[in-house]
Amino acid sequence: MIDFELTEEQRALVDTARRFAKERIIPVAAECDRDAKYPMDVFVDAWKLGLVNPTLPTEYGGLGLSDVDSTLITEELAYGCAGIETSIMCNTLGFTPIRLGGSEAQKKKYLGWLASEPIMVSYATSEPNAGSDVAGIQTRAVKDSGGGYVLNGAKQWITNATHASFYCIFASEDPSLKHKAMAAFIVERDQKGVRIGKHEDKLGQRASDTAPILLEDVHIPASQVLAVPGQGFKLAMETFNQTRPEIGAIAVGIMRRCLEECIAYAKERKTFGTAIANHQLVAAMIAEMAIRAEATRLLVRQAAWSLDQGKRRPILSAYAKAFGADAAMQTAIDAVQVFGGYGYVKDYPVEKLMRDAKLLQIYEGTSQVQRIVIAKQLFSD
Ligand SMILES: Cc1cc2nc3c(=O)[nH]c(=O)nc-3n(C[C@H](O)[C@H](O)[C@H](O)COP(=O)(O)OP(=O)(O)OC[C@H]3O[C@@H](n4cnc5c(N)ncnc54)[C@H](O)[C@@H]3O)c2cc1C
Repeated sequence: MIDFELTEEQRALVDTARRFAKERIIPVAAECDRDAKYPMDVFVDAWKLGLVNPTLPTEYGGLGLSDVDSTLITEELAYGCAGIETSIMCNTLGFTPIRLGGSEAQKKKYLGWLASEPIMVSYATSEPNAGSDVAGIQTRAVKDSGGGYVLNGAKQWITNATHASFYCIFASEDPSLKHKAMAAFIVERDQKGVRIGKHEDKLGQRASDTAPILLEDVHIPASQVLAVPGQGFKLAMETFNQTRPEIGAIAVGIMRRCLEECIAYAKERKTFGTAIANHQLVAAMIAEMAIRAEATRLLVRQAAWSLDQGKRRPILSAYAKAFGADAAMQTAIDAVQVFGGYGYVKDYPVEKLMRDAKLLQIYEGTSQVQRIVIAKQLFSD
């Protein structure tokens, strides 16, 4: 039986997130984009409303919402501003390794912390010389005599690094062994030897914080070892499998915003004595936007539903991410086109949508990497 209807609770959740985007995100989005400023008060208010960490399990104080619920929230927040949304929902990427691989004590401490305070957690695999090639990381983890490790290295492009209270950091016991030696650690912001580098001045999603994490002789006690060497790569990949549908949901939010802005503008703007909505070439661009948004939403819904059912089908998560990211980019480029010259200036909202959409093709595995992931699964079946 297939049912595309949202439940009453899901409709209420969408209403709450939509109202939050309208009242708290949209009014500050342009300023935060211009000044590359993260609105911490918006994050705190989102946390109070239960929009942050939606899938945090109830045993640890969370709301225990489903992955489908989480993508519904993401779509609404991204409609308001993809940069602010990324920083709000990135906690899910940050805590998923602990939810999947943490010990009971780690879950109690760190998931419980997220439930009890409006704090952030970051996820860190990427390095200056290893992004797509996750198994190529160079950050070293050297075992100490007490069952803990000492970390040395640098993580690059880490969302919310400046603000996070703790991090899930991936490192290697022996980089020459690639994925066979990868491990994962919970690292607290205040631990000796942890330093956060300069906030990146980005093209888009400028409201979100992105910064390097530098690790110099950071002593990690055994209680903060999340995955022992050999288990880290699997944990990193499974985390992406769980969170990629969220990127598809950001894409839907961006496309819905493009669509609404373009419909309104095309009805108002006149050329050759008539509204541009009456020019079939313009109307067709807008029809394509709607097709892409709807197709992505269905892929996202299917991938999230599959996760909720406990079915392991990473190809569905990759479809939602790959199709959604490319669809959002094309849609945002076309939105600028529909606005003509006005699309190219900052007084109108669509140039920001184009800059924001681009990141979807890069983070959590580039569009090329998604094709590799998909092809690998197709050929292995
Ligand atoms: C704003 C922002 C936020 C981010 N947030 C996080 C975060 O929170 N945590 C985190 O760990 N990382 C984060 N990242 C890092 C992101 O995941 C990486 O940038 C991404 O995986 C690409 O890695 P790279 O930049 O090293 O590019 P590279 O891996 O060097 O790739 C360069 C180009 O080559 C292509 N390419 C690479 N290998 C192949 C191949 N085998 N076949 C075909 N094409 C290939 C890529 O698709 C890309 O087009 C973030 C990045 C940005 C920009």
